Order: sequence, then structure tokens, then C-alpha cells
Amino acid sequence: MKARDPIADLRRIAFMLERANEATYRVRAFRSAAKALAGLPTAELTARAAAGTLTDLAGVGDVTARCVAESLAGEEPVYLRRLLATEGSDLDAEATALRTALRGDCHTHSDWSDGGSPIEEMALAAVELGHEYVVLTDHSPRLTVARGLTAARLRRQLDHVEQVNAALPEGFRILTGIEVDILADGSLDQDEELLARLDVVVGSVHSGLSDERSKMTRRMLAAIANPHLDILGHCTGRMVSSRPAGVTGPGDRGHRARTRKESDFDADAVFAACAEHDVAVEINSRPERQDPPKRLIRRALEAGCRFAISTDAHAPGQLDWQRFGCERAALCGVTADQVVNTWSAAELLDWAGKRS
Ligand SMILES: [Zn+2]
Ligand SMILES: [Zn+2]
Repeated sequence: MKARDPIADLRRIAFMLERANEATYRVRAFRSAAKALAGLPTAELTARAAAGTLTDLAGVGDVTARCVAESLAGEEPVYLRRLLATEGSDLDAEATALRTALRGDCHTHSDWSDGGSPIEEMALAAVELGHEYVVLTDHSPRLTVARGLTAARLRRQLDHVEQVNAALPEGFRILTGIEVDILADGSLDQDEELLARLDVVVGSVHSGLSDERSKMTRRMLAAIANPHLDILGHCTGRMVSSRPAGVTGPGDRGHRARTRKESDFDADAVFAACAEHDVAVEINSRPERQDPPKRLIRRALEAGCRFAISTDAHAPGQLDWQRFGCERAALCGVTADQVVNTWSAAELLDWAGKRS
């Protein structure tokens, strides 16, 4: 039998484990093995697989070595086959239609801030999912726990993205962006000139989440009125369960089980402002966020808001979590024409550009 590509099989397994929200160490085992073996000539791989010495290499364990041996023998690794067999979509027709209509993702992180993977890796996973674009939205300076990017680092990232884009397949591109902190006074935590230069700006509240209602409402309204803001990220800040494994970042130390109440704000005023200023309301797909809750998605819909169904992915496999957001959006009656990331990159840029 013709040998398969063992590195591709290892990466595929890692992706599927991540997507299934499995523990970080399991995902890491496959990613490290893929990395350790990527540089080796095929002849050496084959020789080592035959001699049983793959595990002598740092980063390769028994399970990953077995997968490699099976791939090289031309068999689909048993581990991969089991994952494929138990995968499946439980989405109903409306949610599936919404998911199918999505052409990109407006909220993603890389290892430049608190994500776990390089920009290239995130982009390649997005290509595999059939996306036409992802907006790279690493954190802003004040979010130091998430290694928020200073203006200087963000400028370097923009240069880097340009290089990465040049090497990516035709028809796909990384759009530049930021998840900018909405500061206590409602201002945005990055240089004006940079915010103007970025393709898409997502703004989120990450501090003072339990501030009183009027204060939080004022803060959000000020941010929404800022012409640089395109998308209001995870507006209530709630956490419905502990963070999944694999996500480092604020509050993630030791994977403690933790939940957080919704922030209190005047939702009617906030969503009316979003509709007025044409700021899209994010439907955050992360299983531990599910933000906004369905009753608020319905309120935003009634207010005439647009939406972005985003993953807030911190790892490649999480880019497939959009289906969770679609499910909730569909239950609330959101349709594809109300969702900005059903547009092409050109249409999205046109919309975002008009705002600033
Ligand atoms: Zn956030
Ligand atoms: Zn985020």
C-alpha cells in the first residue's frame, strides 16, 4: 500500500481532538510529534518505524509512534479512524444552513497573545475548514495576562501577516484586526492610527465586569460610538463553565472550574446603539462563554442589529466551534443576511471601512 503522510495524519488528529475539546496534553502530544518529525527525511522515518526507534526522538511517544508506523504502512491510523467514526454533526437544518453560509471568522487568537499556535497554523486550519478569511484579533496592551500586543508589536505583526498572506493559497487571506479592550471610560486600548489601519476591530470588556449597571452601560455606549469599533465582542462577559483545556489566558491558571455572572447593562440601550452605529453584535461560539445568552440575541435581533458568529479560537481545532454559535443563533431566528461573516472578505472590508 502507498504510504500516507504521517505528519498530516498527526496534525489531523490534533485538530480533531482540539475540536472535540479534549485535554491539552493529548492535543500537544500529537502536535509535538508532528513538529519533531516534520524535519526528518522520509527514509529515516521509515527506517526508524521499522526498527521501532521513533520513540527515541524527543516529543514522540508510543501512541504517536504507532500512528506514524500505520501511516507509513499506508493504513489510516487506528486512532484517527476512531475519531472520524465518532465525529458527526448534531445540527438541525437552520443551524447547518447558517454554518454553510459563513465564509470566515472575525475573532481568532494566535501565540502572539494568549493563543497556542502560530498565525500560519491557524490560517492553514481555516483554509482546511473552507474559510475564505480569518480576522486575526490578538489582545491589546492592557490585557497583560494575555500578553496583549503593544503598538510596536502590533506593527510587527502587521508586517508578519503580510508575509504569511503572500505564502497562503490563492483565495484565502488573513485580515488584520484586534480584540481591543474597552477601557473603564469606554475608550479603546490601542493607538488611534493603528485602529484606523486594521481591517476589523472587535472590542470587548475584560475588566470591571461586575461594575454597576449605569457605569457599564456608559462604558459600552462610548465604545460603540467610537467609529473604529466594528464588532462588540462577548458582550456580557459571562462564563457558563470552566474554560476548556488548551486555553491559556486570563483566569486560566490551573484550569479551575469557574463560572461568571453576566455583566449588568441596559441591553436595550446598548443594542439600539449598535444598530444606530452599525456595530455588529458578536455571537461568541466558545462553549464556556455562549455569549450573549439567547434572550439577549433575541433582543439584539429585535433592535435590528447585525451579528458576527465568531469562534474566539485560541487553537486551530477551535476554529470549528462556529457550529455552536450557529446553533444558538438559529434558535433565536438569526438569518444569514444578518451575519457579517457570511459576506466575502471584500464586502466585510467595505463595511468595516465605512465605519471608520
Ligand atoms: Zn475576549
Ligand atoms: Zn478573544
